[in-house]
Amino acid sequence: MSDRPHGYARYKLDGCHCYTCAWAVSEYNRQREAAIKAGTWQPYVPAAPVREHICRLQECGMGLRTIAAAAGVGRNRLQSILTGRPERGTGPQEKVRPHLAVAVLQVEPTLDMLAPAALVTSAGTHRRLQALGAAGWPTSRLADRMGWTGTNLAVLLESGRVMVRTARAVRDLYDQLWNVDPVSQGVAAHIAARTQARAADRRWAPVGAWDDDTIDDPSTHPDWTGACGTAEGFPRHRRMGHRPCRPCRAAYREAHQTNPPIKEAA
Ligand SMILES: [Zn+2]
Ligand SMILES: [Zn+2]
Repeated sequence: MSDRPHGYARYKLDGCHCYTCAWAVSEYNRQREAAIKAGTWQPYVPAAPVREHICRLQECGMGLRTIAAAAGVGRNRLQSILTGRPERGTGPQEKVRPHLAVAVLQVEPTLDMLAPAALVTSAGTHRRLQALGAAGWPTSRLADRMGWTGTNLAVLLESGRVMVRTARAVRDLYDQLWNVDPVSQGVAAHIAARTQARAADRRWAPVGAWDDDTIDDPSTHPDWTGACGTAEGFPRHRRMGHRPCRPCRAAYREAHQTNPPIKEAA
């Protein structure tokens, strides 16, 4: 699905949590934290970890100008670290001031910093649109608000990756609507009810099942019950009248050493 090699960028942008990606990120974070710590007391620190971080950010589609703005430093400073100033006959800088190192090392590739046309995993985009559907917002209304057609939005819901600008537009829409009743905005009550029923059939998780810091991470699961993935989740699903989710079925198997009953909820 993704043509990025496994590693930092693939973890950050595609949410791949395979062994290679997770190792790359944890090892990388460890070195980065050590460099930040060292930077708080030394007069100069090695430029190599800073250079490495700039390269990782560029790999994620961030331009040097964006990185410089996020770090609050001049672009020339970053250029000196990367390549030196060939016009002045100097090579890449070997040491930098700690405040510069720390400023650059703290920049993270967030959605707001990536190039608008860069591709990222669609997990968070799908989950937001689905949660709004579960709240009764029909796809056609959501599409209207984004200046899209309903067909475009339906296609979007099928694709594994989306452009950063689309992910941002859907995130902004979600931030506006997550706690707004569609009926209060002119959606007919029977349409809202039908949309909710369809979302339930498709097992689209509601707004309450997500946290802002888990919704974009494809390796996370919705928390339908407030206890999903624990032994308490399975009976809560039953009481709420829906089929237990996969982490809850796994927790049941773990606790009872047997497969859960497959009886569908009424
Ligand atoms: Zn991977
Ligand atoms: Zn569950």
